[in-house]
Amino acid sequence: MQVRSYDLFIDLDFERLKFKGRVGIDLHCEQNVILNAVDLVILSATDGMGKSFRTKQNGEDLTVETGPFDGAVQIDYKGSVSEKLAGIYRASYDHTYIVTTHFEAAQARRMLPCVDRTDAKAEFKLTVSIDKNLDAISNMPVETVTASGAKKRITFQRTPRMSTYLLYLGVGKFEQQTAKLGETEVVLATTPGKKGLGKFALDEAMKGIQFYEEYFGIPYALPKIDLIAIPEFAMGAMENWGAITFREVALLLDANSSTRSRKRVSEIVAHELAHQWFGNLVTMKWWDDIWLNESFATFMAYKVIDSIHPEWRVWEDFLRDETAGAMARDCLKNTHPIEVPVKSPDEIEQIFDAISYGKGASILRMIETYIGKQSFEEGIQRYLSAHAYGNATGNDLWMTLSEVSGIQVQDIMTSWIRKPGYPVVTALFRDGKLTLQQERFLISQASEPETWPIPVTMEVNGQVRNILLQNTEENIEIKDLKSFKINLDRTGFYSVNYIGFGDIVWTSSLTAIDRWGIISDAFTFLLSGKMKYADYVALLGRFTQEKECLPTHEVSDQLSFLYTILPSKTSELSRTFHRSQLQIPREESNENTSILRGALASRLTLVDSKYAKELASKFKEFQKVEPDMKKAVALAYARSEGDYDGLLKAYRESNSDEHKVTFLNAMTAFSNESLLNRTLEFALSGEVKKQDVRTVLLAATEKPDAKNATWSWLKVNLEKIRNLYQNTGILSGTFLSIIPILGIGRIPEVEDFFNKHEMIEAEVGIKAGLEKLNAFDRLVTNIES
Ligand SMILES: [Zn+2]
Repeated sequence: MQVRSYDLFIDLDFERLKFKGRVGIDLHCEQNVILNAVDLVILSATDGMGKSFRTKQNGEDLTVETGPFDGAVQIDYKGSVSEKLAGIYRASYDHTYIVTTHFEAAQARRMLPCVDRTDAKAEFKLTVSIDKNLDAISNMPVETVTASGAKKRITFQRTPRMSTYLLYLGVGKFEQQTAKLGETEVVLATTPGKKGLGKFALDEAMKGIQFYEEYFGIPYALPKIDLIAIPEFAMGAMENWGAITFREVALLLDANSSTRSRKRVSEIVAHELAHQWFGNLVTMKWWDDIWLNESFATFMAYKVIDSIHPEWRVWEDFLRDETAGAMARDCLKNTHPIEVPVKSPDEIEQIFDAISYGKGASILRMIETYIGKQSFEEGIQRYLSAHAYGNATGNDLWMTLSEVSGIQVQDIMTSWIRKPGYPVVTALFRDGKLTLQQERFLISQASEPETWPIPVTMEVNGQVRNILLQNTEENIEIKDLKSFKINLDRTGFYSVNYIGFGDIVWTSSLTAIDRWGIISDAFTFLLSGKMKYADYVALLGRFTQEKECLPTHEVSDQLSFLYTILPSKTSELSRTFHRSQLQIPREESNENTSILRGALASRLTLVDSKYAKELASKFKEFQKVEPDMKKAVALAYARSEGDYDGLLKAYRESNSDEHKVTFLNAMTAFSNESLLNRTLEFALSGEVKKQDVRTVLLAATEKPDAKNATWSWLKVNLEKIRNLYQNTGILSGTFLSIIPILGIGRIPEVEDFFNKHEMIEAEVGIKAGLEKLNAFDRLVTNIES
């Protein structure tokens, strides 16, 4: 069956949250028309000229009994605007709402019967009938507006060929700010009163589009692009073609926003813009190649930001957030290859994870290093123009990269894309001989012989040497070794275990990234039992006076994690490290050191009551606290004053989501259990945005004093929480994060609980979470003994 176009009319009853729809689908088929439709009431199906067809609904499939057919099938139907955060739904704010859509991956079928598959690209011509006083935004600019009674009809220009998941409709009161980039209109849209907060994002978007047009060698395809702030949104953002939606915190900033938020806005804007080419112009054939979209957008975003803000050194963030984040997922038996077979919507929603984003992006970075930046860019240009307005697979990309570079990357890529997991390379130095060995790294202590073709980069006595390590083991003769390091700039997706080098590695010229690599790998070795806790603590000693942000932040993260799982044995270590780090003089004006200071202070607050008391005194003049310290001050105040009502008042009086989240986070740090219970109850009171309930759950999980209360609360409120995130993959990722921590010390109970409550929408995360729980629990036992 071939779909050519959709002619869609939606008559929206904004007040009653209902709509009537009429869609004309121009298509060709050899047998009956089979569409997707969910929660829609089908009123009639005709050929548009009086001939009716019978329809049959079976699950999410809608069969229209046309027999062989060529022409337009017209379907009249009706539906409701959802209270959930998927399909066409209501996003509330200030006692009112907008109606908005989120269709990725398989939710367009909740607004219109359609062939809801990525490779069924078609043109869309959308008309909406809405109340006169409202505005509407879609993928394309408005073509005509005509009044009819109390309503008006808005027709949008026809879209180019595109996939259904990229269709967008937003209706409500919007305020806009417009800029021009050549012929393209770049528009920032918010609910009333907020457009001024989008200036930074708009500027970033202008620079981003310019960057991509040059890098891809293809102009942005549509006449306009909207960046829309959505008051309630399950995701961070969504790249609907020409109408990108964002959670408010991912787009809007005020004078009090933290540097971290600014970096986040910049990254998310750049990511969604990359999709306008990677994903929207050229789309994966099927969701098993979702990484083609997400890995690229992730990787490209860092390229853009690095060119706009070189002082941010965002490739360091890339390592911490994307590469290490992906390894933390990929070290489990319960991982999946980057390219993964998926069928049902539930399966698809759960692969928007660290593998599809971070691992894929890291592999792209590795291959770019291997074939060179120039070839990589040329290959991407050729790939995009060859498949514009169409679909492609990973294989299409490798072929093009091989052609352009003259280096056969297919075998390398296929192995990295299709095999689950990643290797640890052991570098052994003995009797003047260097041996490199590889095997799969698993957190579960199991050893698994597996090989990858690894482009290994080394610096031996100051000279760079590259090899492709394809076998389990390779030997290299080295005379008189004075300095040595491996995996330069950490462009390779593997960890490194140095054995037998004595101090040679430490006396080599190590960069911040090298030192980060060593401590980051050490922590995974500690978790897997490859490294003893005492050796790990000794290694930490090398970092107490560390001056660079990346390794310092890493150690702080690790100590914060250890404190979360076993406070009694690790708080002293955390206190000592964070105290000494906060004494190190760092540039006041440097934005990265400002973020770091805020993070260090937040962590010290939890383990140093005297420090918390001091910092808490700043809460009374919270407005004056510098943005990057606000989180620490709020935490300190909760910790040392236990003033639930004061924090709740601050939450209620704040009109920025960023600061609301800061107060919510602080409200999970009380040491008094009854106050914690009040916070958890409050999270589900209806006053906290649905999107932020998960944030409270994650924040509470991190606080050792809140673990018992949080577990009890979760057990009681499971169905309520599931209901909030229905038809999204949100819970899968959430359970993966919380089970390994909340479950420590009660594994049988937790396993039993999740056995009894089967959740198909989260089963991937639950399985992986339970595996991780066993590893964390083992670590606790190791440290205690
Ligand atoms: Zn994306």
